[in-house]
Amino acid sequence: MAGPGMRWSENTLVEILLTADQIQRRVREIGEQISFDYATKKPLFIGILKGACMFLSDLIRYVSLPISVDFIAVASYGVETESSGHVQLLKDVESSIEDKDVVIIEDIVDTGLTLTYLIHNFESRNPVSLKVAALLNKPSRRQVDVKLDYVGFEIPDKFVVGYGLDYAQTYRNLPYVAVLKNDLEVAI
Ligand code: 5GP
Repeated sequence: MAGPGMRWSENTLVEILLTADQIQRRVREIGEQISFDYATKKPLFIGILKGACMFLSDLIRYVSLPISVDFIAVASYGVETESSGHVQLLKDVESSIEDKDVVIIEDIVDTGLTLTYLIHNFESRNPVSLKVAALLNKPSRRQVDVKLDYVGFEIPDKFVVGYGLDYAQTYRNLPYVAVLKNDLEVAI
C-alpha cells in the first residue's frame, strides 16, 4: 500500500485509517461547500504549517473562488505527542487579516488548545469573519470547546501520520492517513 519508491514497508504501519481516495473525495466536498458558502467573497485561507500543507494544497484546487493564501507556523510545547496549550507563533501571516474573511486550515484538532489560541489571536485583529476547516477531528481528546466549521473526518484516539501529519518529521508525504504500529508507545 506504500506508494512507489517509498522506503518504509507496509509492516511499519498497522492500519490505514483513511485511503487516498477517501481523503480526496471528502476534500473535494469541503472545497465545494466552501465555494458555495463564500460565493460572493474572496476568502483568505491561512494554512498552519507544516501539517496542513497537503490538505490546503488539495483543498484550494476544489475551491472555485478568487481566494488568497497565507501561512502561519506554531510551536506547541509539550512532551512528544502531547499538546500543552503553550503555543508560540513562529511565523505570522505576511499581510493584514483586518476586514478579511479568514478560513483557518488545520490538519487535526486534538485537545483544541492550539486552535483556541489561534482563534483568540486572530479575532483580536478584526477579520470580517473567521472560520475553521480541519481535516481530522479527535473529539474524545478535547480539553477546550472549539467550533469547527468544516471537518473532514472524525477519528478515534490514535496517533496518526500521513497526508501532511508527521511523526518526528517523517511520514508527511504518505497520500493516506495511517496509525503507526507502535502507536501505544508514541501516543500519550
Ligand atoms: P491540539 O492543540 O488540538 O491538542 O493539537 C493540535 C496539533 O497537535 C495538530 O496541529 C498536530 O500538529 C498535533 N497532533 C495532534 N494529534 C496528532 C496526531 O494524531 N498525529 C500527528 N502527527 N499530530 C497530531
